[in-house]
Amino acid sequence: MNVTATMQTLQAENTAFLREVREIMPEFDPVRLGQVMHDQICELYPICRSITGNGVRETLRLMQQWIPLEIQEVASGTPVFDWVVPLEWNIRDAFVKSEKGQRVIDFQKSNLHVVNYSVPFRGKMRLEELKTHLFTLPDRPDSIPYRTSYYSESWGFCLSHRDFLRLADEEYEVCIDSSLEPGHLTYGEYILPGTSSEEVIVSTHVCHPSLCNDNLSGIIVATQWARLLRKIQARRFTYRFLFIPGTIGSITWLALNESSVIPRIRHGLVLTGVGDSGCLTYKKSRRGDAVVDRVLSHLLGQRGLKGKVLDFSPYGYDERQFCSPGFNLPMGRLSRSVHGTFPEYHTSGDNLAFVRPDSLEETLRLCLMVFRVLEGNRVMVNLSPKCEPQLGRRGLYRAIGGQSDAGAIEMAMLWVLNLADGTRSLLDIAERANLPFLTIETAAQALERHHLLEEKSFAVRA
Ligand code: ZN
Repeated sequence: MNVTATMQTLQAENTAFLREVREIMPEFDPVRLGQVMHDQICELYPICRSITGNGVRETLRLMQQWIPLEIQEVASGTPVFDWVVPLEWNIRDAFVKSEKGQRVIDFQKSNLHVVNYSVPFRGKMRLEELKTHLFTLPDRPDSIPYRTSYYSESWGFCLSHRDFLRLADEEYEVCIDSSLEPGHLTYGEYILPGTSSEEVIVSTHVCHPSLCNDNLSGIIVATQWARLLRKIQARRFTYRFLFIPGTIGSITWLALNESSVIPRIRHGLVLTGVGDSGCLTYKKSRRGDAVVDRVLSHLLGQRGLKGKVLDFSPYGYDERQFCSPGFNLPMGRLSRSVHGTFPEYHTSGDNLAFVRPDSLEETLRLCLMVFRVLEGNRVMVNLSPKCEPQLGRRGLYRAIGGQSDAGAIEMAMLWVLNLADGTRSLLDIAERANLPFLTIETAAQALERHHLLEEKSFAVRA
């Protein structure tokens, strides 16, 4: 097939896919949804989240207006593998005041000004001593850095380098009105049961304060994905959406669900950093050849969506825990620009302007396609395997009228008939034929309607 024909097929498929989604969800409007998601990010943006505390609770409660997720609490001190659920951190106020009584660093203006998890502190000190608790980015002089002190008891402030240079040599009043006490680690969980108890798990972290791409974009795309799937009644897999604090949250969740849920997980995705203008990026699971790895590689390679696929590495987000060797789950990570590779990362520059409605929408659309492929990836058997069945007689040859992709679908029917021997999934066939999954699936459905093909099984093992 030439390039133009391929592009036409892609466009036709994309349109067909969107039409189908709209049939299920009449209000589905990707352009409007991009703006809706951005508005939701605006709503969650001001909250001071951390790995524990009221910021996560408030975030999850606000999200309950969109999806009926359950809020789970795990007590501080609970052992979870090599870790312990930490003390709960809450903060009310923090500032550094000049001799004139002016707040020169003010938590009320940006929660990034306080090193996240700072222990409570009150005192007076000269600039020289204060400086040992101040963090700036000299190479990004207008940005406030985001820093944490989760696992060491300390306190500090973050500020733009420009403001730092303005601090006079005088005595300052310092206040961090926080608490670090036994309490709980809070996370959200939303389960959408399917006809099978086999699960697809989608995980996103919820522990960053006022930062948009990392991590509000992941929270909101996962939320919208769940909201849309909720309206699709015919789900085969059970879908479990996790909204958990980074690292300790996934470790805690894995420890609590080791024997109950983990054996049922067939596919999974960590969503993070999915709202910036960079291209879609999929990081493979540790296995490298899991079905989810192949689905994402296929969609990003075939669909004309600009995207790249990276191999697994043990650095990143919660895929580090899900793909630790003791679990080795078939879970990859979907992002856009990779963390640490863009200057706004972990600074006040990761703000409401940094995440874009069209990027959020494109990510959500890819997520829906992932759903579509996972649900449609069946193993089929050709019921007429001795020589080619006569397609013309059944109206299948040159008959899927007037579509620009008719040729592609005929080719797909030949591939499906030839390879559907009960050992290969439709994804296997799409890969082998180098045709988009939806073309292969459309062909398979046509053959199925004419009793030339039969489903053998659906839940292709990860
Ligand atoms: Zn981060």
